[in-house]
Amino acid sequence: MKNPFHVMIIPTLGCPGRCKYCWSSDEKSPRMTLDTIDEIVRWLKPLRDQRVTFTFHGGEPLLAGAEFYRTALRKISEELAHLTPEFAIQTNLWLMTDELAEIFAEYHVPIGSSIDGPKELTNYQRGNEYFERCLAGYKIAADHGLLVRFICTFTNSSVKQKEEIVNFFKEQGWVMKLHPALPSLKGENPNAWTLSPEEYGELLVYLLDEAVEHPGEIEIMNINDLCRCVFTRAGSVCTYADCMGTTFAIGPDGEIYPCYRFIGMPEWVMGHVRDAPRIESLMESHAGKRMLAFKEFVDTACKDCAHISYCRGGCPYNAIAPTGGSLEGVDPHCTAYKRIFDEITGRLNAEMNAPPAAMRVSRVKRKQQPSVTALIKKIIDE
Ligand code: SF4
Ligand code: SF4
Repeated sequence: MKNPFHVMIIPTLGCPGRCKYCWSSDEKSPRMTLDTIDEIVRWLKPLRDQRVTFTFHGGEPLLAGAEFYRTALRKISEELAHLTPEFAIQTNLWLMTDELAEIFAEYHVPIGSSIDGPKELTNYQRGNEYFERCLAGYKIAADHGLLVRFICTFTNSSVKQKEEIVNFFKEQGWVMKLHPALPSLKGENPNAWTLSPEEYGELLVYLLDEAVEHPGEIEIMNINDLCRCVFTRAGSVCTYADCMGTTFAIGPDGEIYPCYRFIGMPEWVMGHVRDAPRIESLMESHAGKRMLAFKEFVDTACKDCAHISYCRGGCPYNAIAPTGGSLEGVDPHCTAYKRIFDEITGRLNAEMNAPPAAMRVSRVKRKQQPSVTALIKKIIDE
């Protein structure tokens, strides 16, 4: 993973958007104050020998405004310099301004945003004018030299248009990061848009084919991550690693949670930044013990799986969301993970065991065939 320690800062759960499958916005949410940033800095100061990534997430984090980021980024950079902080932000970009873009450029903050495909499809899933407003913000960010990548959420509706969506990303020249619509612990109809594990698995194999066959035309971050997992035999993103104890999220009022996805649920509060709790005591909280219980559960439930070292049972939140919070199984996307990990492993093995091209074709020099091996080589070279 990029950095082993990850702190998500959630300045508010408020959001001006109305995406149909979003469970993490709350109109009545408070806004984080700069006092809480001071408390976060005090809390993390004793950490040693850690590199820390800070991700601003929401709700919509740009609601916090330019003054918040100008001060927060300066304080974290200066007062936690020994943690070599790196930053990221996940935003719908609607509220991007030149002033904000200048601040993010100064601190090299890469931006993650969300577009689900062509305009009509995106606006169908995310609400009228989402696409136009997001692109207007993108233009401002791009004009200031900011790196912007788009998450593309696939729902049980949009997956039927996967070819159109992939072609759209190719045309734009954008790197794709995909996200399956997930069930939630919040909301009244939490499965309405959910992509089934079987559909998700088939989608990943389709995207693997696209990445292998058109390496110069489209880059799909998830496929890169999955290939890296198999090649290095270690999880390269949080879903495929033990996130407990190395990832924390700070809510608008300073409460500490295991991840942004638990924000606003009192039973998942681990502590408060004002008390500067040690990491060990956060993991001794009720919520911390529930996260560690998932890790132990995976050690048993997945012990016979060939992919356990680089899958680790998937995401603990996904595992408990369908059962109202009780731990009854691993991440239900296990079916999808097995499907794609088997596919990558099987193809790699077949390619390695195939006779060398030189023995198959004499004298005729052929250009390299598309292969998972070539894709992995490209990922590693880059
Ligand atoms: S709970 Fe899931 S999304 Fe959150 S850090 Fe862990 S693996 Fe990632
Ligand atoms: S693929 Fe399924 S069984 Fe294997 S480690 Fe992942 S969640 Fe467990």
